[in-house]
Amino acid sequence: MKIVDVQAIPLRVPRGDKVDLDGSQDDALIRIQTNTGLEGIGEVDSSPEVVKAIIEAPISHSWSMGLGKILIGEDPSNPERLWEKMYRGSIYYGRRAVAINAISGVDIALWDLKGKIERKPISELLGNKYRIKVPVYASLYPYGDTPEQVADTAKRMVERGFKAVKLDGAPLGQDRKLDHQILAATRDAIGDENDLLTDVAEPGWNVDEAIVRAKIYSDFDVYFLEAPFRPDELDKYKALSEATELRIAYGEQHTTRFEFMDLVEKGGIKIIQPDVSRAGGISEVLRIAHYAREKQTTLIPHCWKTGISIAANLHLLASIENAPYLEFCQPPTSPLRYTLLKEDFSVEQDGQVKVPTGPGLGIELNESTVEKYRVD
Ligand code: MG
Repeated sequence: MKIVDVQAIPLRVPRGDKVDLDGSQDDALIRIQTNTGLEGIGEVDSSPEVVKAIIEAPISHSWSMGLGKILIGEDPSNPERLWEKMYRGSIYYGRRAVAINAISGVDIALWDLKGKIERKPISELLGNKYRIKVPVYASLYPYGDTPEQVADTAKRMVERGFKAVKLDGAPLGQDRKLDHQILAATRDAIGDENDLLTDVAEPGWNVDEAIVRAKIYSDFDVYFLEAPFRPDELDKYKALSEATELRIAYGEQHTTRFEFMDLVEKGGIKIIQPDVSRAGGISEVLRIAHYAREKQTTLIPHCWKTGISIAANLHLLASIENAPYLEFCQPPTSPLRYTLLKEDFSVEQDGQVKVPTGPGLGIELNESTVEKYRVD
């Protein structure tokens, strides 16, 4: 079997020039075709048009090639071998950031293809099977402006079955007194038995301010504090991690095991959050997970895209021991989030989502949604 085509299809929901943090308003859908008619599907959480350029670029020289040129003609049955080929073949413009984001989506599609070739779900291909359902946390954005509104949103999630909720971005992280009120109201609303997670989305704190906030957050038994600083401020992460008992989480902007090694070893991070559609795909997140286990570090993947990323993560987490939760965005605001696939990944009353059982990712695209939102 041979790969005959690699496509990156930009999808975009019209919304004018509105800027917000919703990750599924657009998508770079990856489709890998073979000469037998079998197809692999993936996606990338990055700028879709930049990803498309990386897939379609011509050959400059052997260390600077478009990913499509690297893959066409290859046997698709070994994604990890092809990951190395893509990493080396893009190394002059790649190694990190968007080139690795693009490799991530292609790698997911290659694993989907491998599963379809062998007629097995990816979770089975990955060997160790720790679970058939994965606990997810409700990642709330937007979630209200006042403590009362925030508490109400969080309470509704617990009523729907979630055992953990996360407040994403502002208003949390802005005003110190407001933080106290929001956390008090939310903890009261969800009870002590459920987990309360926080993501302050790089609010511009210095280390002293972060230490003061960490004390406040600890008083409400916050499970982790995510993104107090920017991605390259590892010295600040280290200083905060050494000054607080509160677990610090980060990693949605990081790519490859090399950057996660830095987060853990130079930044003192206790919870790492690779995104399978950004950090290097299933092949690389597996390596990151094995590293994390050796370092006694917990892995809680970032997931901000469509059902394709959700499916890839469910298969991954079925086979990873040190991953207590998957991020699960609520409410799903973009139609790409809930109409791109025929499958509906809804949370059950026990706060978990079932791992798909069909071959590969175990998903099917809604072609009408692809046609409706494609912008190429
Ligand atoms: Mg985040």
